Amino acid sequence: MLSGAVLDTSGLDELLPDWKTRGAPVETPVRGDRIYYLTERSRLRSPFTGPLSNHGNYVISLNRFVRWLSEQAEAEGIDIFTGFAGTEVLFEGDRVIGVRTGDRGIDKHGERKGTFEPGVDIKAAVTIFADGVRGNLTKTLISKLHLDGSVPQRYAIGIKELWEIPPDRVSPGSVVHTMGYPLRTEEFGGGFIYGLPEGRLAIGFVVGLDYRDPLFDPHMAFQRFKQHPLVAEMLRGGQMTRYGAKALPEGGWHAIPRCYVDGALIVGDAAGFMNSMRLKGIHLAMKSGICAADAAFDAVRSGDVSASVLATFQRMVNAGSLRRELYRVRNVHQAFGAGLFAGVACAGLAPVTGGWWPRGLLSSEAGHERMARLARYYRTEHPDPDGTSNAVKVDRRVTFDKLTNVHYSGTRHDEDQPVHLLVADTDVCRTRCREEYGNPCVRFCPAHVYEMVDDGTGDGRRLQINASNCVHCKTCDIMDPYQIITWVPPEGGGGPEYEGM
Ligand SMILES: Cc1cc2nc3c(=O)[nH]c(=O)nc-3n(C[C@H](O)[C@H](O)[C@H](O)COP(=O)(O)OP(=O)(O)OC[C@H]3O[C@@H](n4cnc5c(N)ncnc54)[C@H](O)[C@@H]3O)c2cc1C
Repeated sequence: MLSGAVLDTSGLDELLPDWKTRGAPVETPVRGDRIYYLTERSRLRSPFTGPLSNHGNYVISLNRFVRWLSEQAEAEGIDIFTGFAGTEVLFEGDRVIGVRTGDRGIDKHGERKGTFEPGVDIKAAVTIFADGVRGNLTKTLISKLHLDGSVPQRYAIGIKELWEIPPDRVSPGSVVHTMGYPLRTEEFGGGFIYGLPEGRLAIGFVVGLDYRDPLFDPHMAFQRFKQHPLVAEMLRGGQMTRYGAKALPEGGWHAIPRCYVDGALIVGDAAGFMNSMRLKGIHLAMKSGICAADAAFDAVRSGDVSASVLATFQRMVNAGSLRRELYRVRNVHQAFGAGLFAGVACAGLAPVTGGWWPRGLLSSEAGHERMARLARYYRTEHPDPDGTSNAVKVDRRVTFDKLTNVHYSGTRHDEDQPVHLLVADTDVCRTRCREEYGNPCVRFCPAHVYEMVDDGTGDGRRLQINASNCVHCKTCDIMDPYQIITWVPPEGGGGPEYEGM
């Protein structure tokens, strides 16, 4: 699990009202809330916190929190099987009947090893898909059953580090959000800094995966953010201890797909229940999970799990706080498509307009479609990647290269397994993509998975996939301009180990 994380406890209050006496690891109330607009060397503090206000919320470790939640579930007699990847949705016609888990013990050539164990079919009256942002199972479901929302889903990538700093530097519960530098007005996103107990600090940066500059590198933007005097002063003398990255669904209410089909429901980030304005989705994942559980329970009891009965889920979502919260910010991310000021105006005026924004000012294409070709963006055929937005001097104290960062994500994959990043046509990478976009995968991947290496022909390059670095953020599946990269789960259990994040 990877998140900021500031928890809005409304979902937890609904699920387990006695969470305090049960000993939930939700202990650090937010004690100060600041928003800054940054320029390269200075900052301007906003007198208002508006929708980003965190009064009543808590700074938590999402990993500790979900571990505690799993203990609560197991105490109720619920079995949780971790370490198994769902690789395939099982259908009977258009009805979902379950999920198939992946085979284990296949070598990198696709041959069975001595440790081979076939996957199993897990069948259920109702399957609830909660495989997170751009979930591989939900993606299949949406595409096969044409469930897309009325606008394409938009995404962002969030990159985060945990730091240990001198304990008196930042008080636990202090929350800082930033806009502006190092992003330009054409890019959506900002930074966050959350004070944790015992001198720990969560620091991260979120960037919309709908930027235009093909040479933009979100990881580099994060490094620049840490070099800003406001942030560098907090990190001085500290040490980075963990690293992670993950995408977020930011398309809002209209991008949410139809979440009920015969035999299945979709919840959480998989469906897009995320408030991009507040950078919060944990409580919405919990609330949508509660609605799904209630709808599934009633359907199973009535003996009818068809879509028309499971549609109760949508009615509950519409009638409750999920719609109330998400509808009034429904256009915010798309409004940022016209620039920072349009986006801020749309968000700032939402209390008056109820979230309405002129349709003509909303960008409605998928994020990857907004990326411009090199020649168009730079008005030259061969711009220098190091001379543009990307050059940052890595000092390994405050700023890090991707490989060093990956080391701190605890990522582990068995090397002898099939590559789990499928590129449909690598010829596109060495020819069209190299020329048209300068191979943006090497920059948008925050884990140095993609590399263009010498192909031995002199001037030529070929794609090398360092799959064992993959932190499962899904950015490549989302942002590739040709949409030829597909993320599939590696052997169950492989991936980042976000202890304490
Ligand atoms: C950098 C960052 C900062 C954020 N900050 C905040 C914040 O401060 N507050 C807040 O409320 N929200 C925040 N969010 C959003 C929040 O993390 C998500 O909205 C929330 O975690 C969604 O929960 P989920 O259970 O739907 O998905 P996830 O938390 O993504 O969980 C999905 C789980 O399914 C597993 N999975 C996926 N595919 C498979 C498969 N095929 N087989 C088996 N398992 C699979 C994944 O490994 C994962 O464990 C942040 C997100 C990011 C990236």
